[in-house]
Amino acid sequence: MTVAALQAYGERAARREGAVLRQPSIDALVDELDIERLIAEGGLEGTRLQLFLDHYLSGATRLHHPRYMAHQVGVPVPHAALAALIDGFTNNPMAIYEMGPPAAAIEHAVLNWMMTKVGWRGSACGKRCGAGVLTHGGSLANLTALLAARARCAPWSWTEGIPSNLVLVCSPGSHYSIARAAAILGLGAQNAHYAATDALGRIDPELLPGQLRRLCQEGKLPIAVVANAGSTALGLFDPIRDIGAICREHGVWLHVDGAHGASTLLSSRLRHLVNGIEDADSIVWDAHKMLRSPLLCAAVLVRDETALNDAFQQDASYLFHDKDEPGIDFAHRTIECTKAALGLKVFFALAHGGEQALAAVIDRQTDLAQAAADLLRATPGIEVAVQPQTNIVCFRLHGTDALQLAIRKRLTHDGVFYISTAEALGKRWLRLVLMNPNTTIDDIAELRTEVLALGRG
Ligand SMILES: *Cc1c(COP(=O)(O)O)cnc(C)c1O
Repeated sequence: MTVAALQAYGERAARREGAVLRQPSIDALVDELDIERLIAEGGLEGTRLQLFLDHYLSGATRLHHPRYMAHQVGVPVPHAALAALIDGFTNNPMAIYEMGPPAAAIEHAVLNWMMTKVGWRGSACGKRCGAGVLTHGGSLANLTALLAARARCAPWSWTEGIPSNLVLVCSPGSHYSIARAAAILGLGAQNAHYAATDALGRIDPELLPGQLRRLCQEGKLPIAVVANAGSTALGLFDPIRDIGAICREHGVWLHVDGAHGASTLLSSRLRHLVNGIEDADSIVWDAHKMLRSPLLCAAVLVRDETALNDAFQQDASYLFHDKDEPGIDFAHRTIECTKAALGLKVFFALAHGGEQALAAVIDRQTDLAQAAADLLRATPGIEVAVQPQTNIVCFRLHGTDALQLAIRKRLTHDGVFYISTAEALGKRWLRLVLMNPNTTIDDIAELRTEVLALGRG
């Protein structure tokens, strides 16, 4: 029954039937779903389950609808939802090998596959040998990677606390989790310094060496430079190879935040966007974005295989002791203790059509974004921020920032299209993230008509 309901939900959405999203009040939803009574009395089965599912699915935001264009959440390969079911039933937290050997084996193999894509495994990489861990999301992955950077730069921080001169350097277009990581790691959010950028907001490698030198002259110790492989607002890539060369020269850790864009590693056409990523010290790569895996699954990868283990120096006598075991304890590399079988989710997404099927979707979505940008740019009264490098398109109607927000508010209210907005290059943009393989250029043309009509008031 549940599977049939989900299938019908997905198919109706894919046929563009009904709204993309509804926004009832939270109180109305709690009532409609009969949550309080079910908690008190139980009985969520049979017709009650059916009724609950009807309400739940009619209120759910429909990623499967081709007019869902709002956020960087992957539309999962349907088959991959089975991974969540298998994990939910077996419930093997696998950070300690003996607690879930198959889940740990899959995490290990998926990480090795990712590292092969980066160039840290396989015949091409000489003596290189990376390591990694999967986390619940890119934000936690960024924190983990920057903790490893801090451990390399100021290893005594773990026991003594951090010195006051630690800073990091990132792009002004970096995801908010970078500034949060700076705050959580004790640097202070204001010590996440912005790198100088070019006109499109990408880190300018001409100006970076001077900036690093100045920081050193001021007595600061940069734990890392953070480059974007796919900035959140515009989806643009920093020049990773050039930045990597500068970091090496200055002895600074390079972290590449590829939560969104590292998946271009799969595409022979788009791989060039991340050229030089193999010289990074750490990389974050979300599978639940462009790899169409169910939430959550993100990877932290480090080039030096000891870097993650060195970042954590914890004793837990009930877990960590000498054991004669045939596997790996991932718990030594991660903030989390109990952890879901995250690898299973990306594995199911990959193993359905093979990696080439995911690569083809990434190429297709990029083509669509570029065609959408061309279409919008050719429309009088519309400005496009930049030519997209992946599947993110930012545009705006001539007018104020408030106008863009008002348009999005109306669209969200009507539920016919779901888009987001973002600030970049000093302005507020309407933002499309084209995740759904069923979205077509006709959907974009109809969105354009709708936006123009709303703009006329
Ligand atoms: C999405 C994103 C993140 C955060 O990842 P979550 O999985 O949402 O926590 C970090 N950095 C970039 C560049 C992103 O696009």
